Amino acid sequence: MLRETTVFGPIFSRRLGSSLGINLLPEKGKLCNFDCVYCECGWNKDGRGDTHLPSAQEVHEALEAKLEECMKGGVPIDSITFSGDGEPTLNPDFPVIIGRTLALRDRYYPDAKVSVLSNATRAGVPEVFHALRKVDNAILKLDAPTDAQAALVNKPVGTYHVADIVRSLRQFDGQFVLQTMFLRGPGWATEDWVEGWMDLVRELHPRTVMVYTIDRETPHTGLQKYTVEEMRALVQPLIDEGYTIQIKG
Ligand code: SF4
Repeated sequence: MLRETTVFGPIFSRRLGSSLGINLLPEKGKLCNFDCVYCECGWNKDGRGDTHLPSAQEVHEALEAKLEECMKGGVPIDSITFSGDGEPTLNPDFPVIIGRTLALRDRYYPDAKVSVLSNATRAGVPEVFHALRKVDNAILKLDAPTDAQAALVNKPVGTYHVADIVRSLRQFDGQFVLQTMFLRGPGWATEDWVEGWMDLVRELHPRTVMVYTIDRETPHTGLQKYTVEEMRALVQPLIDEGYTIQIKG
């Protein structure tokens, strides 16, 4: 499922309320440095039709027009979320776009929360890190505790070391949301590495941990979801230790 515009919505959800989405990736393609087996946008190889990344100016104009339209129509906006067809921090204007989005939010809907969904691969780049620290919710992915396990589920494009990601995430001093997909693939499952993953959670101490499972069609066939009860049982040690865990089935 590809998002066809740079600014989309608002979409209403019980969790986020009325939410605007921002897609910093090509409107008719996918661009990511992961190729997750569960990606809702499909495989990278199938999404290369369009390579235009919206500039800071284009995002600003599209967002301002949408916020103005919503204001005039009396439409509430509770959140503005960067969640496009790929990894938003790959857009070279990402740091500037975050600064401008926060300024527009302050002007039009000062109570709206700005969130970024990212695979965390670029969280160690200083400008990206500083931009992620400014938003209300930096929601950063860590699906597996070892490089070999990440290769099964995330299929990184190029070099990827969990140790580097953990080093980057440590800089947040716990001021981020850790997001982890729980699923079963052919010959492997999250429960195989949940102990190692929980050790990383303890090391990073994120303010919230979001655990979820597959919901829609996935590019890789043969994946299986977990039930909410199964996920809760797996993360029970963290719940007992007082971590804030959101579980989404
Ligand atoms: S990081 Fe996100 S956009 Fe990239 S492949 Fe994985 S699920 Fe898809």
